[in-house]
Amino acid sequence: YFLTFEGPEGAGKTTQARLLADWLEARGEEVFLTREPGGGLPWLRQALLSPGAPHPLSPEAEYLLFSADRAEHSRRIGEALARGAWVISDRYLDSSLAYQGYGRGLDLDWMLQVARKAAPLKPRLTFLLDLPPEEGLSRAKEKNRFEAMDLAFHARVRQGYLELARKEPGRFVILDASRPVEVIHEEIRRAIMPLCGP
Ligand code: C5P
Ligand code: MG
Repeated sequence: YFLTFEGPEGAGKTTQARLLADWLEARGEEVFLTREPGGGLPWLRQALLSPGAPHPLSPEAEYLLFSADRAEHSRRIGEALARGAWVISDRYLDSSLAYQGYGRGLDLDWMLQVARKAAPLKPRLTFLLDLPPEEGLSRAKEKNRFEAMDLAFHARVRQGYLELARKEPGRFVILDASRPVEVIHEEIRRAIMPLCGP
């Protein structure tokens, strides 16, 4: 199964993705743990995140660069799924819809049209680690150029994520990320239980 983690920086996506991967592996499952940006074209990650990157990039250019990475990433995810592995990705297409779409005002229909080819794989479940922007920003460890953006931007991103979740309630699991790591992990395990074998 293809599972993704979404939410703002500092919400604990990386931690939860790792905990879930460890848990599945302990049950004897093969897990491909991956992330964006950089899951497809690792050399693009720094360029997209570093403060030295040309800024401001137009939202179109930004989305297409993320999409180039994602097109390669999707292919690798497909290969892992084909050999029976679980795939856990720390961010995927919903990040772009939230950040470049809701956050930077890019047209969602156009984005989805691009994504039909660049990100053809749909996650079976998406865990949205929801957190007020002020809290996420203060928890984020590594600073990058996105974190320099204003609070209003991050508020739009959060509302965007919640809107995406409302549109696909069967795929999204919204989790209050302000709770302890172990409590959240347990809730995630409960949510994937129906996908696990006996
Ligand atoms: O560690 P994390 O995955 O949260 O860092 C990725 C950074 O890239 C975040 O600051 C996020 O704001 C940004 N990003 C983005 N658009 C995407 C994916 C990530 O702006 N599509
Ligand atoms: Mg992280």
